Amino acid sequence: MIKLLSNSVVIIKNFHNKAFVRQMSKFSGFEEKVYQYLQPIDLAKPPYSHACQIGDPVLRLQAKPVELEIIKTAEFKKFVEHLIKVMRTYDAFGMAAPQIGVSSQVFVIETTKKQYDEMMMSKSAGQPIEEIPLKIFINPQIKITDFKVTNYPECCASVCGMMANVPRSKGVQINALDIDGEPFTWDAVGWPAKVAQHEFDHLQGKLYTDTMDRKTLSCMVWQTVNRRGGKISIDYIPIARSKLRKLFFT
Ligand SMILES: [Zn+2]
Repeated sequence: MIKLLSNSVVIIKNFHNKAFVRQMSKFSGFEEKVYQYLQPIDLAKPPYSHACQIGDPVLRLQAKPVELEIIKTAEFKKFVEHLIKVMRTYDAFGMAAPQIGVSSQVFVIETTKKQYDEMMMSKSAGQPIEEIPLKIFINPQIKITDFKVTNYPECCASVCGMMANVPRSKGVQINALDIDGEPFTWDAVGWPAKVAQHEFDHLQGKLYTDTMDRKTLSCMVWQTVNRRGGKISIDYIPIARSKLRKLFFT
């Protein structure tokens, strides 16, 4: 029986079954490590389909590196797909694994043409922005390449409803692994550098509120709060920025 249970083929076939994987974890640390990347069957357990909120201890952990043998598994790839899905559901420019409850060194970033166009039309853009094709970073290391500091507004799916200016280095170089576990080097200046630094910070247990320009912290909908006599509510479920705009800014 133990021999059968330690057979990786049997394990992979049964990865959809959490009870099975839990049983497996008694026999090998490997299964336990893969288990955490399973897509949620129970929405109240990680990996979540929502973003954890500030105060959640998972956002304050130093995230663990992902082992190469784990990166190669189908379950880990599904986890990354899930992370991308949550980022896109929130209409966010990036999402880090701890934000969906998994303290692993993984983050994704993307700025689509639609987001770019929306930001350019918005009077609150206030900063240079550019399209960023989807990029996956696993076990990233960051190096500052341009020490000039920018100080533009940021918001975060884990600090729902708020925004603040955050000083960031203008240029960075990141060395990381891609989805296949292959190392790559990525150089960024301006907008992509800022987005990557925000997500990289999540892997160190840091939030933008730690380093923000404190006087600029704002409720994103403070004008609407006044206009509606305080009768306003903010959802913590994924909601696209375009929908938010429709709800609060029209
Ligand atoms: Zn964030």
